[in-house]
Amino acid sequence: MKQIAITGGKGGTGKSTVATALAVELGKRHKVLLVDADVDCPNDHLLLGIERKPLKKVFQRIPKWDFEKCVKCGKCAQVCKTHAIFALKGKQPVFLPQQCNGCGTCVLACQQNAVGWSKKEIGTVFKGKGHGIDFVSGELKVNEAVSEFVVNALKEEVKKIVKKYDFVLFDTAAGTLCDVISALEGSSIALAVTEPTPLGKHDLELIMKLLKKLGIKFEIVLNRFEEGKEKLIEQVAKRNGKKIASKIPYSKKIIENYSKGIPVRHESINTLAELVK
Ligand code: SF4
Ligand code: SF4
Repeated sequence: MKQIAITGGKGGTGKSTVATALAVELGKRHKVLLVDADVDCPNDHLLLGIERKPLKKVFQRIPKWDFEKCVKCGKCAQVCKTHAIFALKGKQPVFLPQQCNGCGTCVLACQQNAVGWSKKEIGTVFKGKGHGIDFVSGELKVNEAVSEFVVNALKEEVKKIVKKYDFVLFDTAAGTLCDVISALEGSSIALAVTEPTPLGKHDLELIMKLLKKLGIKFEIVLNRFEEGKEKLIEQVAKRNGKKIASKIPYSKKIIENYSKGIPVRHESINTLAELVK
């Protein structure tokens, strides 16, 4: 099994377009699992027109209070770095679960043992099939903050079935935070998808820095390529000893297919399929 990550420092560069098109292309001759790990905003199933079925719910631990034991000292609120506990002197603490990351500091800090554990549902892992590939995705509930817990739950499900596949493609979220790092772990190659804009250049530099730190081999994919506008990205690639591995053109046909749930078919995707084998 080969694990491939499709990633990018910036949102909206076309990671999902590349991930879905590459998965479908590889799926013509191999057993492929596509993992949508962009749990804040999963959209691979929409791009592929795949109907998802819930596989499991994801929970996060959160503290719960036994107010009979509480002496209203306010210590739990003082130690909470995310400001999930609000306490006025002489009053019982008030808990804001949306801001809690489950770190447990308040549980340790309470000398009265008045803080224990409970849990809350923060997301769902889904599965589906279509275009000759298998598919799993995670989705964080609205108003929840800790997306890496959903990514980790997704990875646990992937671990159970990974042996069935020749290729497992992880479509990560944008950026360089914990949820992206968790989705990148275990990949033997990453495709850094960018676009020919100053923001695309800046965010490509960030994701390349992260991939180098994690020791993951990577290639650069330029989406929305237009003749003459690729210089910015070529310069960054050159500075990092790389070339642009594949260029997906800015085309009306691709955009139309995108909106109809038809995966991109283009020689640039065939190039990528050969590159990652
Ligand atoms: S630290 Fe314990 S005793 Fe003090 S306010 Fe919090 S729950 Fe109550
Ligand atoms: S578990 Fe951590 S984040 Fe949550 S309320 Fe306690 S100290 Fe704050």
